[in-house]
Amino acid sequence: MEPELFSIPVEKLQGVSSRKAEELHALGLFTVGDLLEHYPFRYEDYRVRSLAGAKDGEKITVAGVIATASTLQRYGRKTRLVCRVRVDQALIAAVWFNRPYLREQLVPGREIVMTGKWDARRRQLTVADSEFPDRGGGKSGTLQPVYSIGGGITQDWMRRTIARALDRYGAMIPEILPAEILDRYRFMPRREAVMRIHRPGKESDGAEARRRMVYEELFLFELKLQAHRALVRRRPDGVAHRVSAEDIRAFAASLPFELTDGQKQAFNEILRDMRQPYPMNRLLQGDVGSGKTVVAAMALYATVRAGCQGALMVPTEILAEQHARTLRRFLEPHGVRVGLLTGSMTERQRKDALAELQMGMMDVVVGTHALIQEDVHFRRLGLVVTDEQHRFGVQQRSILRRKGMNPDVLAMTATPIPRTLAITVYGDMDVSTIRERPKGRKPVKTYWVKPERMDRVIGLMRREAEAGRQAFVICPLIEESEKLDVQNAIDLHARLRLALPGFAVSLLHGRMTPVEKDAVMAEFVAGKSSVLVSTTVVEVGVDVPNATLMVVMDADRFGLSQLHQLRGRVGRGEHPSCCVLVADPKTEAGVERMRVMTETDDGFEIARRDLELRGPGEIFGTRQSGLPEFKLADLMDDFAVLEQARDDAARLVARPEFWTSPAYARLRDRLQRDELFAGQPLD
Ligand code: ADP
Ligand code: MG
Repeated sequence: MEPELFSIPVEKLQGVSSRKAEELHALGLFTVGDLLEHYPFRYEDYRVRSLAGAKDGEKITVAGVIATASTLQRYGRKTRLVCRVRVDQALIAAVWFNRPYLREQLVPGREIVMTGKWDARRRQLTVADSEFPDRGGGKSGTLQPVYSIGGGITQDWMRRTIARALDRYGAMIPEILPAEILDRYRFMPRREAVMRIHRPGKESDGAEARRRMVYEELFLFELKLQAHRALVRRRPDGVAHRVSAEDIRAFAASLPFELTDGQKQAFNEILRDMRQPYPMNRLLQGDVGSGKTVVAAMALYATVRAGCQGALMVPTEILAEQHARTLRRFLEPHGVRVGLLTGSMTERQRKDALAELQMGMMDVVVGTHALIQEDVHFRRLGLVVTDEQHRFGVQQRSILRRKGMNPDVLAMTATPIPRTLAITVYGDMDVSTIRERPKGRKPVKTYWVKPERMDRVIGLMRREAEAGRQAFVICPLIEESEKLDVQNAIDLHARLRLALPGFAVSLLHGRMTPVEKDAVMAEFVAGKSSVLVSTTVVEVGVDVPNATLMVVMDADRFGLSQLHQLRGRVGRGEHPSCCVLVADPKTEAGVERMRVMTETDDGFEIARRDLELRGPGEIFGTRQSGLPEFKLADLMDDFAVLEQARDDAARLVARPEFWTSPAYARLRDRLQRDELFAGQPLD
């Protein structure tokens, strides 16, 4: 193979000292290959244009001839250099600040190219950059790349260094896309595309180069996910669950309700995977209240019937306990032993639980994230279910693998995501979706009221409490200050206690200990208090069927998906429920969110609107979520390309030649460098 750009350290380049190299490393740039793929995120336009179309305040580049001698003014330590320049047959003033040394060069009759800010009224250019054509080329006439930089690295230094890398090593840039794809889309060769991305020509603005490189980036991303999936499927080192259809039917018949079609279908997909010898990696997405927990219970039942153990991971202790209760209700009648493993257990309790797990006396364990780590050993772990947005990533899998386990994984989420994101965020997973909610569920009526009408909202609470129902009141999360947050909740709690004499009003906030929180929550679940004032702790998953009213204070501070989650906490029982959003939004987006909430109750529609309003990065908080960061592609703008790339990648991975033919060696090589494959051989 030819010398590899990714094995040439940046220090090899002229002008890159070991100090500079360190600064490049801090930007994630270690090799010449990295540097060549450090694409500019925009360009600065130094192309010469005429004054005619220039707008006031705009940054422009013009060419002209110096018409007058310059004058230099000094103000203390500052200087101002002025001369007249003939541009397009007109005289304009050119001004340089603090560059007195240019004075000698401003000779009447000499040609000059200047870039700066145009003041249309005074017909004056404040020059930021100037060049003399008689001295040979520079920036003028070009689009200059703008790179992300940092530390002691300046834009000019980065430009120079990348330009050197291109001059010296550009010819070595290999083609990696398969010929059939180059032909199909008429892409320019990779070498040329990379060159043009860094230095678009006078006429070309780099659009064609970008088109190719965006595709390449998305294609490589999709190829990685699909190749990984294919590889996993080829290695039969997972648990092939053996469980009979009769067993499952009997379990379903024991449930207090008929499963919805969506639940049945999702479970069938899960069971099909569980029976395969490769490890399942499946996402179960469904709107709040669509009944995912029961589906998880069935999957856990299946793993136990097949002689394995199951684990359910949840984000909080309250949820762990609630889920343990629910699972016991469903599973214990069938002899399945359900246990808990949480941080608030005593040392003794924890030891016992660990021993039971290791000896196989506990069949299903519910707990927080630490469940699969540290000193926890299973006798035979067959299935891990994660609830609510836990990413069960490569890392967790490898922890388990090291312990000799390779369980099936089912991730549940109540934040339905539009297809746009599903194929990127969860690109390596198979997805099951429950669309409908159980029959007989009445939609939750949603109202938006201004804070002035709070007394009427309190009236509503009173009415529900008198009827024996319960209400959640959610205080806004004030990000800057947890203290304010808590104070808010305390104040509101006091106000409601006064306003609702004779009814128990309880309080839950982030400063309370887990034990305190649990006690308050347990009280509310048991119906001992009528109103629960809370910061957003109840957001995820709690199930209180008797709660019929959800009041959200300062609702415009919440995102759409969050509001939808909160609303999903009511309407879970037989009584009609409603959700009241108390808000006086100051922004158009805030008003829009209130409008969307009152218009629709469909989680998928809401997710779509949320995406439109906020964009993917904000919804998923790029880093933790596994949402990929692309160098060139934009998930919203380039979505059609992403879909195309995905199809192409799927087709390629399905062909045996992909894994063996030298024609795809570069592509395979490229994949292998990714952490997803951790250096495993691809064939
Ligand atoms: P989520 O998808 O939000 O986790 P849950 O699993 O908590 O939903 O289910 C919400 C409520 O609906 C629970 O009280 C559950 O027992 C009930 N439920 C689930 N499936 C059905 C069904 N098929 N018919 C009636 N009620 C159901
Ligand atoms: Mg749930």
